[in-house]
Amino acid sequence: MAHQADGDDIDTEAAEGMDPLDADNEELAIRVMPKVEDQFTCVSCFRVRPRSELAAARNGDPVCTDCA
Ligand SMILES: [Zn+2]
Repeated sequence: MAHQADGDDIDTEAAEGMDPLDADNEELAIRVMPKVEDQFTCVSCFRVRPRSELAAARNGDPVCTDCA
């Protein structure tokens, strides 16, 4: 098919142009740590736990079942 060769040419050019953008996106992803909604960080052991292990809140801060 004729369009196959054309597509290859366009793909190569687009990939080259996108390389710097990709690097930018990776840097942003590392800096902005998305907070996962069904997890919490225990204020006693400072480990990230699934919400099912949330035992109680100490002064409003979450505590896991191991530390409660
Ligand atoms: Zn804990």
